[in-house]
This record gives sequence, structure tokens and C-alpha cells, in this order.
Amino acid sequence: MSRKKICVFSNETELSLETRELLLKAFAEAGYEVSEKYGEDAELIVCVGGDGAFIKALHLNGFPDIPFLGINTGHLGFFQEFFPDKVTDIIDDYRQGKYRVQKYATVKAEISAKGVKEELPALNEIVIRSYDSYTIHLNISIGDSFIERFSGDGICVASSAGSTGYNYSLRGSIIDPRLKVLQVTPIAPMNTTAYRSFTSSLILPSDLYLRVTPEEGYEKIRVVTDSIDRSYEKVKEIKVKLSEKEVMLLRFENYDFWNKVKTKFL
Ligand code: NAP
Ligand code: MN
Repeated sequence: MSRKKICVFSNETELSLETRELLLKAFAEAGYEVSEKYGEDAELIVCVGGDGAFIKALHLNGFPDIPFLGINTGHLGFFQEFFPDKVTDIIDDYRQGKYRVQKYATVKAEISAKGVKEELPALNEIVIRSYDSYTIHLNISIGDSFIERFSGDGICVASSAGSTGYNYSLRGSIIDPRLKVLQVTPIAPMNTTAYRSFTSSLILPSDLYLRVTPEEGYEKIRVVTDSIDRSYEKVKEIKVKLSEKEVMLLRFENYDFWNKVKTKFL
């Protein structure tokens, strides 16, 4: 029987690279095959860095169906479970199965523009905004119902996992990731006698989607998935939905979402 395989990714900071070496060595000593490259046959992906490193690993590897374990050497490290000093304990607990797998719902954007039909995934959020610094005007529907003509900088559609990211800075609500909802938060909405837009977040159930069509003259749009930017010309429609794809993260004994929120935010 072939040995069980673990992939270890890291960003390029000195501490991350050191920690990666430590992990590769410790997992190899524990009898695992280790690799710094992504392999579909891995049973676990260990990601060393901050949230950015974890998000990058997801996007580069097509949101793999393999559980991740995050080691925090970054700034915030909201998704990560441990600091590098715990490497030995982590491997012991992992081998003894002392963990659970937390599943995070992800979001996707279905974009149709002239000559383009594309689907983009994101863990945290999908942002639809103007390609420059001018106001954008968008027609917003929820499912089949037209809701508003939005005017402002754009719209952020966050997953529950992303509710503590950009969404939170936009004064959106923090959502427990066990809830599968979409949070639609306006970015600098205009509210004058000339323009009227909702100023608070709207929270949608998992079977509804958000549909955006640009008003005439505003068809050039930027779509941002977890901070990755793309611009589209002649956009016809963008739908944002919860995706069937889930991201899995290992959670050990002491993990509690609300405790994490408290220690990272207050
Ligand atoms: P970044 O610009 O370094 O990220 C900004 C901060 O957000 C970092 O401290 C990052 O943690 C943290 N973060 C990422 N996802 C989070 C989450 N789900 N909950 C709480 N904090 C989170 O870029 P990045 O590291 O590649 O992360 C991309 C994310 O940054 C985007 O998806 C978006 O949510 C967020 N963002 C926030 C703002 C804002 O608040 N004004 C603007 C743009 C993007 P680490 O320090 O551990 O990397
Ligand atoms: Mn970062």
C-alpha cells in the first residue's frame, strides 16, 4: 500500500519557509509521503501563512476537495488554527483523529458579457464594481424580482466565511459560518433625491441568487473574487450564487468561531 500523502504550501516569508521545512520533516518522520506540490491524491493540505496564503492556495489549485489545515505566520490569520510552535502537537492530534472538518460554503459569479461566459469561484466574496472611480449604476434583482437601481461604488456579495473580511469593513454583519447565506452589502451607496439605494446589507437564503445588469453606459465592470481583479467589457448580466463547492478546514479541540471573532477583532 502506498503511503498517505500530505501537501505543504507556504508563502515566502522567512518564518513560513522555516515552518514549511519543519512540517515536511515532521510529517515524513511520522510516515507520510510529503510534497510541496499539489496532488489530487493528498489527504491533507497544510497551508502556512496568513489568510491571503490560504485564499491563494485555493484559487491556484481550483478549490480542491481536500481538507486544509492552516498554520498562521501572517498578520491576522482568521482561518488558521495554530501558530508554528504547535507543529508537533498538531501532527499527534492529526494522527489520532482528534479533529473535525468544518465545511465552508463558497460563492460563485456567473458572468455573461459579449463573447464571454464565465464562472468564477470565491471563498470570501465577489465584488461587482466600476472599472474606474466613477459611480456605477446597476439594476439589482433578487431571484426574479427587481429590487433597486443601485448607484455607488459597487456591491459586495459575501459568503458566511467572508463575512468577517471586506464585508465587515463595509459595515456588514458577522455571520456564523454554519449558516449558509449570501450577504449583499452596498459599497458607498448614494442616497440623495437623485439616487436611492439600500444602505444596509441584505441577507439571502441559499436558494436565492443576486442578479446584476448594468445600466446603459456602465457595461464595463470589474469583478473581484477574493481580491483577484478582472475587468469585463459589454457585460450583459452577472449572477452571484452560493456554490455546490465547499472548502474544508480542520478544526481541533479548542476551536470556537465566536471565540475566534473575539480574539481577532476586539
Ligand atoms: P489583504 O489585503 O492582505 O487582506 C486584508 C485582511 O483581511 C488581512 O488581514 C487578511 O488576513 C484578512 N482576511 C482575509 N480573509 C478574511 C476573513 N474571511 N475574515 C477575516 N479576515 C480576513 O488580502 P488577502 O490576505 O489576500 O485577503 C483577501 C481578502 O481581503 C478579501 O477576500 C477581502 O475579504 C479582504 N479585503 C478587505 C478589505 C477591507 O477590509 N477594506 C479590502 C480588500 C480586501 P491575513 O493578514 O491573515 O492575510
Ligand atoms: Mn493578507
